[in-house]
Amino acid sequence: MITCFLAPGREKLALNHHPWVFSGALVRWTGTPEAGEVVRVCASDGRFVALGQFNPGSKIRLRLLEWNEGISVDTAWYAARLDEALALRRPLEHATDVLRLVFAEADGLPGLVVDKVGAWLVVQFLTAGADRLKQEWTQLLREKVHGLKGIVEKSDGDGRKMEGLEESHGVLWGEAPPARVRVRENGALFDVEVGAQKTGFYSDQRDNRFFVAQVASGARVLDAFCYTGGFAVHAMRGKASSVVLADSSAEALTAARHNLEMNGFVPERLVEGDAFTTLRDLKKSGERFGLVVLDPPKLAPTRESVERALRGYKDLNLQALALVERGGWLASFSCSGAVDEKMFQDVVAFAAKDAGRTVQVVRRFSQAPCHPVRTSMPESFYLKGLLARVL
Ligand code: SAH
Repeated sequence: MITCFLAPGREKLALNHHPWVFSGALVRWTGTPEAGEVVRVCASDGRFVALGQFNPGSKIRLRLLEWNEGISVDTAWYAARLDEALALRRPLEHATDVLRLVFAEADGLPGLVVDKVGAWLVVQFLTAGADRLKQEWTQLLREKVHGLKGIVEKSDGDGRKMEGLEESHGVLWGEAPPARVRVRENGALFDVEVGAQKTGFYSDQRDNRFFVAQVASGARVLDAFCYTGGFAVHAMRGKASSVVLADSSAEALTAARHNLEMNGFVPERLVEGDAFTTLRDLKKSGERFGLVVLDPPKLAPTRESVERALRGYKDLNLQALALVERGGWLASFSCSGAVDEKMFQDVVAFAAKDAGRTVQVVRRFSQAPCHPVRTSMPESFYLKGLLARVL
């Protein structure tokens, strides 16, 4: 096996089981590994540190897998990690059949993301190491996940680009999915477009939708950034009086309306457009809501963009607060990993001050358990949110 050596003092993070080693930390190699090959990583004094997958096209040159010397990373090793990932999700099966089965580094499997959507698996191979094992993963998933009709690949997005890998789509095994796959989540039904370029369904918000629905009773609800209506459907099931859907995507609004109707509800109104404008327009026309849900896309994709993103979050929360009637609720989220919980709460606090409103946080939100946070990799914690009463 090829060995590579870390620069002096650069082993600390790796020894704490953080799975990423950047190109600048590596100084010497005993050979030239192929893309995705597993190599031995040693400290500058020759001490064993870990085994990791080599990613030549990425700044993250190695993704570490195993820290115990003497254990080899082979098919049985990958199968054991998959078993652990599946065991974590098993208790969720009674509540839903749309969930993430493997969450890459957070499950000890760098670059591998597996979403279950009804009887289909949607798999992303986001690193050279994961990509190299496409056949093995298809076989293992077929063996270990029961009741499947097909496995499709949807390897795209920025992650793969940063790894220097082309997009790759297609059926890896079994039947191609129908245009829409019907799934259930805590008693609600959703039709998910598995073939869609975008993520078909945000299962990371499952528990948060459940809690938000608890305060929806009797409320006129605004679901801003509604996508396919996850919050809207659960709010109506929670006996909201009506729901206004807002999103910049016409297709998302159509899907959200469809999902509401499938559950026996009709939206009060659909508003297509930029939320920054929509919220202002609603305020101008004097509209008020008992509950506003704000679930914007990732406004801070990098650490460098945090300042700008915080201004965006502040503005959205300020506008949203102006729409909440006294005693009503705001459920506000950020899925930017680079924005931490403290920053996010501060943003809401500043927005409350500027809006002249008193805000009481009653619950803090995170990502659903099918998106675990690995403590040795803080980057795996990205979704945060607050449920707040507004006076
Ligand atoms: N709340 C949703 C997920 C939201 S995903 C759920 O529970 O499923 C983010 C959504 O924001 C996407 O549907 C996207 O179309 C929309 N979006 C992105 N930028 C926007 C903008 N500037 N104004 C309004 N919607 C936007």
